[in-house]
Amino acid sequence: MIENLVIIGSGPAGYTAAIYAGRAQLKPVVFEGFAASGVPGGQLMTTTEVENFPGFPEGIQGPKLMQRMRQQALRWGAQLITDDVVAADFQQRPFLVIAAEQVVRTHAVIISTGATAKRLHLPGEETFWNNGISACAICDGANPLFQSAEVAVVGGGDSAAEEALYLTKYARKVHLLVRRDRLRASKTMQDRLFNHPQIDIHWNCIPLSAHGDEVLRRILVQEVLTGTVSELPVSGLFYAIGHTPNTQLFQGQLLLDQAGYIQTGGKSTATNIPGVWAAGDVQDHHYRQAITAAGTGCMAALEAERWLAEQQSFLSFNVA
Ligand code: NDP
Repeated sequence: MIENLVIIGSGPAGYTAAIYAGRAQLKPVVFEGFAASGVPGGQLMTTTEVENFPGFPEGIQGPKLMQRMRQQALRWGAQLITDDVVAADFQQRPFLVIAAEQVVRTHAVIISTGATAKRLHLPGEETFWNNGISACAICDGANPLFQSAEVAVVGGGDSAAEEALYLTKYARKVHLLVRRDRLRASKTMQDRLFNHPQIDIHWNCIPLSAHGDEVLRRILVQEVLTGTVSELPVSGLFYAIGHTPNTQLFQGQLLLDQAGYIQTGGKSTATNIPGVWAAGDVQDHHYRQAITAAGTGCMAALEAERWLAEQQSFLSFNVA
């Protein structure tokens, strides 16, 4: 059987595309991902309160929001498969989407595989990964390791600010290590950081290595202007230094930009291959919000629906 539309990825972009495509009676097949992303639902699954998604004036927990989008996709007939796509072939038509446990042929594809948090790969990082070092304060901050301890966050963007502020709920003191002399975070977040008594900002400062026994006990940091190395007695080291788009599967087939994000055309979510669209963080390194991901998921589904309708005379459709 040839599917009409396969959606690869299950964050706000993927589920929104599934809702729209489902309502258009395209019977979309959604590969939600499994091992690759840790858990289906994308980055919001590891977020706590989401306070800027319209329609939830009192805020909503990230996993709850994704669960509701998922239910809505199911309600409109999306077929959800909890499996990782391991390869795709866009050179032949119908396209081939190869997952760990099955191969699917499809007329159209929407890619919404998102992006993954970057790591620094410091000496000691592997030893203390999940034993003090993490790329997600919001997932791991409540660990008893950090209770009333000192911890460090690396980065100067909104994520770093958010994570540092979040960690003050548990840690006694949070050291924010910023590699330059200024933050990239929004003015509001900067004000919150500057005014927080538990947060110490270390300007022009980078971590060098991690040390401890069974768990992290301290890190070495360097003041980059003078080269001075000193020790910080922290039990936690949290990376908040940006993301890498999950596009390894598509290298050599789709046009990617220098950072590896899928290139889409103008106001469209179309890629360089007709019949393949990209939505959400996998093609957006600028806004990276749940609402913009959902918006581009909607765009991709509408564009796919129109394109499939145009092809109708020579494609055999899997009718709802
Ligand atoms: P950003 O790319 O905005 O920031 C990354 C930060 O990490 C920068 O300060 C960068 O430094 C620093 N950095 C990068 N590499 C290294 C390195 N090797 N060593 C030390 N520091 C490093 O990523 P974010 O994840 O913070 O934000 C991404 C997007 O998501 C932004 O648009 C942001 O506004 C948005 N966002 C919004 C939130 C909200 O509204 N609640 C919450 C979180 C994110 P430098 O500045 O020198 O490049």
